[in-house]
Amino acid sequence: MKVTDHIDKAKKSLFSFEILPPLRGHDIKNIFSTLDPLMEFNPPFIDVTYHREEFFYVEKENGLLQRKSVSRRPGTIGICAEIMNKYGIDAVPHLICGGFNKKMTENALIDLNFLGIDNVLVLRGDPIKSENKFFSKKDGHKYAVELVEQVQNLNKGKYLNKTFEKKNSPLFDFCIGIAGYPEKHLEAPNMESDLFFLKKKVEAGANYIVTQMFFDNKKYFTFVKKCRSEGIIIPIIPGIKPISSKIQLNSLPSRFYLNIPNELVKEIEKAKDKKLIFNIGIEWAIQQSKELKNSGVKVIHYYTMDKPENIYKIVQAIY
Ligand code: FAD
Repeated sequence: MKVTDHIDKAKKSLFSFEILPPLRGHDIKNIFSTLDPLMEFNPPFIDVTYHREEFFYVEKENGLLQRKSVSRRPGTIGICAEIMNKYGIDAVPHLICGGFNKKMTENALIDLNFLGIDNVLVLRGDPIKSENKFFSKKDGHKYAVELVEQVQNLNKGKYLNKTFEKKNSPLFDFCIGIAGYPEKHLEAPNMESDLFFLKKKVEAGANYIVTQMFFDNKKYFTFVKKCRSEGIIIPIIPGIKPISSKIQLNSLPSRFYLNIPNELVKEIEKAKDKKLIFNIGIEWAIQQSKELKNSGVKVIHYYTMDKPENIYKIVQAIY
């Protein structure tokens, strides 16, 4: 079922969350031990992130450096299929521009279609770690809007190569999610510019938005207001991340271009041990979630960043 159908049919506030594929060499069972306890709260859908390959250099015997690559977290599509199979819950694979050319993207979409996956969260992806700018693959997409267009083309039965368009071709009808940034995307020169390009993704056929994490609900409410005044009327799902360590006070703002309210910073700064910080993060996320839920938000999306233990406690308090 499509994410937008879940939203339309929701009689009460829902929650979703994302999981990361296990690191290469680790077992899929690790994912299920995380998911099993959350099943009692009936999440309508679960996102699975996508991680592009990383590059590193090794010194050869002749002293020259050789560039190598590794996909540290492969398996997004397989995990989605197994989530649907094991739990009967919709899985939403993240699909990125980075590292894909259009043919690879089309192949991935065909796989998803064959597996009965109805949803994709379409993203550009970040620059690779050794580069300070995003570079697309040859014949790949530079911006998420182009990827939205490709998915929508397939939804209309248009393959990259017309010769494959047959009368009895499989029907594609992906529900397309995109990312939105209540405090603007880190590369955008200003909020207006970011909203301009957000609207382009909506005009290209996106069906719902999931926001970057924020720690002050006012940022979300203002963002929604701005979107609505720009004519963006699709659902905007707020993204919440419980802080779980002191180091995140610096790492999250620098990585995601966001503000952490001073009240939360002060509480974490004065906390004596890691456990206390973990609980402060949970309590803050619970308060944010309560306010969002009371304001009529239909779905709250939780970021786990590979540490889902706190999500159980938040969901238990809210749902
Ligand atoms: P875009 O919409 O393409 O925007 C990127 C930047 O370019 C913005 O500053 C925008 O204003 C600007 N822009 C857009 N179109 C144009 C244009 N035509 N001309 C000029 N400027 C333009 N990353 C992963 O690698 N894997 C994941 O699984 C993943 N999941 C995510 C889930 C969520 C909910 C969010 C919010 C982010 C996620 N990310 C993920 C991170 C995301 O890939 C990065 O934030 C990335 O830097 C931008 O992606 P985007 O889809 O917003 O890009």
